[in-house]
Parts: sequence; C-alpha cells; structure tokens
Amino acid sequence: MISSSTLYAPSQDRAFDLAVPSFLGEGDGLRLDEAFDPRLFLEQATLAVRMLAEHLGKRAIEGLDSKDPEDLLRTVRQLLSDSGEGAGETGAGEVRVSGPSSMHRKLAAILDLYLKSGIQVYSPGYMGRQFSGAVPLASVVDLVGAIACQPSSFYEAGPLPNVAEEIMADEFGQLIGWDKGSFAMVTTSGGSLATLTAMLSARNHRYADAWTGGMPSADGAQPAIAVSEDVHYSVHRSAGILGIGTDQIVRLPVDGARRICLESLGPALDAAAERGLDVFCMVASAGTTCVGAVDPLDALAEAAGAREMWLHVDGAHGGSLIVSDELRPRLLGIEKADTFSIDAHKTLFMPASCTLLFYKDREKSFGAFDQEASYVFEKESNPLTALDRAKQNFECTKRPMIMNLWTTWALYGRELFAEKLQYLCGLAEQAYEVLAERPDFETIHRPQTNILCFRYTPEKLPPEMAEGFQVAIRDRIREDGRFFISKVEIDGQGALRVVFMNHRITMNHFRLLLDAIEAHGQDLVHERWVRKSPLENRRVS
Ligand SMILES: *Cc1c(COP(=O)(O)O)cnc(C)c1O
Repeated sequence: MISSSTLYAPSQDRAFDLAVPSFLGEGDGLRLDEAFDPRLFLEQATLAVRMLAEHLGKRAIEGLDSKDPEDLLRTVRQLLSDSGEGAGETGAGEVRVSGPSSMHRKLAAILDLYLKSGIQVYSPGYMGRQFSGAVPLASVVDLVGAIACQPSSFYEAGPLPNVAEEIMADEFGQLIGWDKGSFAMVTTSGGSLATLTAMLSARNHRYADAWTGGMPSADGAQPAIAVSEDVHYSVHRSAGILGIGTDQIVRLPVDGARRICLESLGPALDAAAERGLDVFCMVASAGTTCVGAVDPLDALAEAAGAREMWLHVDGAHGGSLIVSDELRPRLLGIEKADTFSIDAHKTLFMPASCTLLFYKDREKSFGAFDQEASYVFEKESNPLTALDRAKQNFECTKRPMIMNLWTTWALYGRELFAEKLQYLCGLAEQAYEVLAERPDFETIHRPQTNILCFRYTPEKLPPEMAEGFQVAIRDRIREDGRFFISKVEIDGQGALRVVFMNHRITMNHFRLLLDAIEAHGQDLVHERWVRKSPLENRRVS
C-alpha cells in the first residue's frame, strides 16, 4: 500500500526526488478521522520538510519577487477551489508534481507558492528588515509545539514551557547580573505587546487607581511619558491605549548618533513639568528601529531614578546583545532598567513571535494585570500554579514560544547566538568603512548594532531630484528583485536602510548592493526622474 513517488519536482534542471509513502488512494474523499490520521501527517510533513530543506539550501541572491496583488489573489482563489489536478497550472508556479494523490499535489503547490512569494530571508540578497531566517532547529521545535498544543500561560496545560521559561529567565538573569529570584521574565507575543505591558506596569505603579477608576482627571498633573524622537511606534500606540494620550508624549532630542541627548534631557523634562506634566515613565531604546542606536542607558537610568520615573528599555532589536560577552558592554546600564524587552524573533533568530520581557523587580511584574477569573485562576497559589504566567502576560492562550529558544540554547549553547550577532555587527562596521570610501555615498551614522543607514548622493544629482530620490532607488532595487533593502526618514530626509540579519552575507554582497544602487541611481538621473505621487510612479515603472 505504501508507495514511493516523485511528488514534488521544481522546474529547475534537477529533479527533486521526494519519496513519500501514500496511504491515500487517488481521488479519495477525506473523512474526519483521515484528516487526523498520523500516516497522513507523516506524508504531509515529509513533503513539507523536503521542500523546506531545499528552500534552506538555496544560495541565489534574491530579494523579493514582488507579485502583483491581483495575480496573487487570483492564484489563491484558484487554489482554494482547485482539486489539485491542475495545481501545476495555477500560476503557483512552475510546480511540476506527480504522484499518487491530488491532495499532495495541491499541498505542494501551496507550499511552493508560500516559499517563493515574499521576502527570501535566507538569501544574502535580503538585507531589509529585522526579521530573518530562523535557526532551523527552532523551527522544528515550533512545529512540535504546534502539534503538542501546550499553551504556556498556565503550568497545568504546559508544564515544560513554563519550567523552560523559568530556566531561561535564570540564564538571562545571570547575563544581566540580577540575583536569582529577584527579577522576572515573561514571554509575550511580540515587542509591541511587550511595550504595552511594560508601560501598563509603569502606569499602574504610579497611578494605583487607574486600573479600576481609569486615568486621573486633568485637574492635577497630567500623566505623561518621555521618549526619544526615534522611539518605535508601539510606544505611541501604547500611550493611546493606556489613556495617557499621544499629546502627552514628551519627545527627547537625540544627538548626532541618534541617541537620547543627555544635555537636553534635564531641560526637556523640566519644561514638561512646568507645563503641568507628570512624566512617570521614560522609554529608551537598545537598538532603535531606524538606525539601531543604543541610548545611553546608564545615565538615563540614573536620571529616571532621580526623578522617580519608570525606565523601560525597548530592546526589541538590540537587547539580545546581552548574550555576547563582546557586545554586552554596549548595553551598559540595562540592568538598571525597571523593564526591558528582547525580540527573540528578531535578533535571536527564532520563528515569530517570541519576545522576552524582563522586570528588575519580580513583584512589579504582577502589577500590570489584575483579574479574577474563576475558570482559570486559583484563589491561592499552590505548587501547580506557582509557575503560571497568566497573571503577568496579556495572553490567555499563549504560544509556548520559549521552547524554541530553550531547545536551541540547550543544544547549541549561547555561543551560537553570540557568534551570529558578533558577525552581523562586525559586518555593519565594515560596511560603514566601505561606504566611507565611496565618494558618491553619504554615511549618516556609525552603526551601533547591525543596522546601517546611508544615502546615494552622486555629485551630479540635480537639486530638484533630491526629494524622494532615496526612496525611488529603494523601489527600483525592490523591483529588480535581487536585493531587498528598506528606507527610513532621518531628519525629514529619506535614506536607504540595510539590516544585516543573515550570516551568509559577505562584504562582497554588500559591494554588489552598492553597485546596484549606483546603477539604479544613475538610471534615475539619466531619466531625469522627479518625484510624483506614488500612483503615478507605479504607472511609470
Ligand atoms: C520591531 C520593534 C518593535 C515591535 O516589535 P514586534 O515584535 O514587531 O511587535 C518594538 N520596538 C523596536 C525598537 C523594534 O525594533
């Protein structure tokens, strides 16, 4: 009954031999118990894993295959209704599949489309964003988690994830320099939710009645927060959600390296107080999204302490430098923050999402949420509820995200993460040097992590072209499809942004990228390109 067949063969020269046993006959209708049959799972998983292994093995320089949304919608609609017989002709591609089951053909077509559309994060052409190819082992564990289905807010449902969270907290606590038992670490679904949770803790700490009574009325000092100009937008959202109001965000000026400027800090906070604001929380960044700048955490912690402000350090991007002995000094003072976060799905190379939120004072980690819910919470703590995280995190059903990180840590050690981060930060420094040597490029900042922003500014660039020029180059690079980079505004002016997340990127790739930027930039100059509305530009291109 079990047969081997070539189920999936990509169109390239080499046939990809996929031996998948199939217990499903051709044209079978699928019954409920068959959908849950472990043999079917084995077939589907084998198919997927073989395709993934090939995907991981690709070495081509690829950015983004910008599919037309209309085409993609049509393909997806077709795949929804297609029996699988014609999966090869759906536009999903060049998939050539043959084998015993039309269902497997359809699955192969869908997976092929999935892997080929969108950003190719494993390619050295991908230098654009902060997410990246995950450590494959972590993805394997993620699959196990998806099947074991042990959500990790409650020990009862997920004993191992809850214990692993405790163990990983200790691992990080040691690196931070905190005493065992004095601090807390909570996993949460993304950096944005970590920001919200930390700011909620800060708010409840200062305004103890806010949880039940709402934010204080405006008669007294207005609750406010202070943030760097470059802070991530999740802070603004949180201010809106928490009833602080985005008008009550005090913007702290940044210095030439785009770190919160210490000289301006005192005057800015004094001015806020004079305006009747009670700045109860300051949000600093360990790796800003724009340029990867790390604020002067040590001095900010001191200032926050002196003014009785809660200090939250948004380390979604760069907090992970803590794992490297070489890079950790860049986070000097992070141990003094009341809270800080790390997006493990960014710079610890985990599948999304996996965020770690740290509290210096364990007690304060229970200050964000306060609920009674008899169906889950026990009135009194007991050994089976002592490790529950539900009182510290927003989620009720929470992905056991820590299992991916813990398993990878257990098998490969912290060194894997440290090595990769050191390489990527080193790459950014080298790239800066390379840029500085090319006269047509303008450097903007020395990289403090693995993000580097710059501009292509050829001498002959007509002034009327300057507006939108960098973005236009980025768009051309994206259309070209070999590289994928992003763009950002710095001091109101567009800039190109490169994020090194892939250790397969070499300086050679970066030089190729600069050549491509130069070529596209020159094309734009020759075309006498000027900025039009995005729609017009789209029509032209
Ligand atoms: C990415 C990022 C966030 C948001 O994190 P998500 O996990 O995407 O929600 C917050 N802060 C900084 C500095 C970031 O770079």
